[in-house]
Amino acid sequence: MMDTEIWITIGAIFVLLLLSAFFSGSETALTAVSRPHMHHLLKQGDRRAGIIAKLHARMERLIGTILLANNLVNILASALATSLLIGIFGDTGVAYATLVMTLLVLIFAEVLPKTYAINNADRTALSVAPLVRFLVAVLSPFSDAVQAVVRVTLRLFGVSTESNLGAITDDELRGAIDLHAETGSSDIQERAMLRSILDLDHVEVGEIMTHRKDIFMVDAGLSSSAILEQVIASPYTRIPMWRGEPDNIIGVLHAKTLLSAVKLQAAAIGELDIPGLAAKPWFIPESTILLQQLHAFRKKREHFALVVDEYGALMGIVTLEDILEEIVGDISDEFDVTVPGVRPQADGAFIINGDVTLRDLNRQFDWNLPDDEAATLAGLVLHESRRIPDVGQVFNFYDFRLEVLRRKRSQITSIRLTPPKQAPAGATGTTEAEL
Ligand code: ATP
Repeated sequence: MMDTEIWITIGAIFVLLLLSAFFSGSETALTAVSRPHMHHLLKQGDRRAGIIAKLHARMERLIGTILLANNLVNILASALATSLLIGIFGDTGVAYATLVMTLLVLIFAEVLPKTYAINNADRTALSVAPLVRFLVAVLSPFSDAVQAVVRVTLRLFGVSTESNLGAITDDELRGAIDLHAETGSSDIQERAMLRSILDLDHVEVGEIMTHRKDIFMVDAGLSSSAILEQVIASPYTRIPMWRGEPDNIIGVLHAKTLLSAVKLQAAAIGELDIPGLAAKPWFIPESTILLQQLHAFRKKREHFALVVDEYGALMGIVTLEDILEEIVGDISDEFDVTVPGVRPQADGAFIINGDVTLRDLNRQFDWNLPDDEAATLAGLVLHESRRIPDVGQVFNFYDFRLEVLRRKRSQITSIRLTPPKQAPAGATGTTEAEL
């Protein structure tokens, strides 16, 4: 064999090994590339990320093409090496060729490029993408044929080739959230929020609704002024109205609608048809999924739905805030309850359950209600009035105004409390004496 022929063959083997390294690295990079990162780049208009997305859309064809090209160059390189070494060493050349080529292909055309690619997957994938796309286009008839043979063979053995390559599952996303940033309290909150968002698609409204026994609703049969009073006393903006029995909801009254109507009708509130102002109630089944309900709230531009069971019986209510709280944690707006059993009112008063302890109230609001004779607010009213008061009775103790709202037998269950007008005792800052 002539010298130049030997050198040309060695050169060709070298080039083939380079190509092989390119294919191996591309295969690894394109499969290991971060999908979220590519998606992000694509949205920013990166052309090469677009190519990768297209290649991924037909993953089997991509892998088929690269493997085809890779095998082609590997086998060609080995064949050339074998013929070269047989020419030099005779039959033992086969053994030398096998040994040398195995080592060369393994080290330089497989492990090295793949190690590089796995460590620089995104960068490598982006730079090889255009060339690989060209290759896929040119070799597609061959790789399609390869795939067809593979499919038919697998089917003969009863193996399905339906693949879900590419789709990130919920579990993977949860895993990614866990891995994302290990420390820091804001990260913990961030992760909790991200997880809650994923939970929205399997939690039912029945699990988060405000239970029926806690719904504040009004009897549509009451007089207009009684309804008005109750609406003002309620910390809620949307109030279901019932007629006959509490299960029979006829509408949902929005406090603001009532406010406008009251203004127009200022002279004769008694003539107001308040039930007529109520919006049509929106009933949803208990089993509604939160995500679905969130979309429904947005689509209907509503915030409030009544939850019913399969027989149509009222189970509770759910509002937009309830669902948002599932994601971001407790949201307190200015009227939200801070101590359980205490509902602040718009006018600065509070509606308080009888069994709320004086200690809790003093601590929360910096008041000085005496707690040595009685433990609860109801106890204090009983102690100070020295009898069982009637509903509607008003007492003034320690600059507080207390009105009995509800009584069950001898128990006072609900009290409207108006704190002193000045800054509460113990608060910092001076109060100017009247001039
Ligand atoms: P907005 O904030 O729009 O004025 P809101 O404060 O009355 O309305 P949301 O913020 O929608 O009410 O809900 C706050 C919490 O109060 C939620 O947990 C919700 O379930 C509950 N809620 C709302 N309306 C009522 C009601 N009429 N009776 C009992 N609980 C209610």
